[in-house]
Amino acid sequence: MLKLDGITVCYGQIPALRRVSLTVEEGELVTLIGANGAGKTTTLRAISGLLPLTEGSITFRGQSIGGAAPRVVLGQGIAHCPEGRRVFPQLSVRENLEMGAYLRRDHAAVKSDMERLFHRFPRLQERLQQAAGTLSGGEQQMLAIARALMSRPKLVLFDEPSLGLAPNLVEQTFAIVSDIRREGTTVLMVEQNAYAALDMCDRAYLLESGQVVQHGTGQALLANESIQKAYLGA
Ligand code: ATP
Repeated sequence: MLKLDGITVCYGQIPALRRVSLTVEEGELVTLIGANGAGKTTTLRAISGLLPLTEGSITFRGQSIGGAAPRVVLGQGIAHCPEGRRVFPQLSVRENLEMGAYLRRDHAAVKSDMERLFHRFPRLQERLQQAAGTLSGGEQQMLAIARALMSRPKLVLFDEPSLGLAPNLVEQTFAIVSDIRREGTTVLMVEQNAYAALDMCDRAYLLESGQVVQHGTGQALLANESIQKAYLGA
């Protein structure tokens, strides 16, 4: 479904990703793990069209999207749920959700999708008129996830969905990510919490200094001794 073929991404002259290749098949939950600064966020931003490629290509469902504008990538069915949540703080919860659907013209379906999301995120319904910047951290995370779903994506990119959340909310967030995938949406997730990410994914890639150094099933990487030592606190 998604294929990154040898992509290099630079900030100025400095490469943050060097010839990264990875694939995500339809229906999969794939995770990217790695230390701070390994290039995980950069990978997601390159897919979303937020960063240009220095070399390599990205294809999604057979179409080239490398170098495409973010709205084109979104229009192809890829939604990005960014790190640090990044809701629009001055806008209400409702307006944030509407922003998620800004490319859609099927207004009746947008309304019913929003109603459906409220079953999963009842707190958002209670706070529809509240400015998003005044929500708690956990509520902002839920809003960011719900906003990404409002575009009816085929693939969702999650950047550190558990970051900064209390332990019970971390579990809840991972359960939501699993549900989204179970309902048929493909997921590519970046996570610092390597144990949880490997345990819940189908396949995983380990990035070090901007390069893919390991990949395999989540269970295979969990069983890998060097990964246990470096990333799982064994
Ligand atoms: P973290 O978990 O800490 O967010 P990450 O794996 O997501 O780490 P990236 O944010 O992708 O890492 O960063 C990869 C490298 O690119 C790092 O060395 C970082 O300092 C550098 N980098 C990221 N953003 C910029 C930027 N806007 N300008 C210059 N360098 C950047």
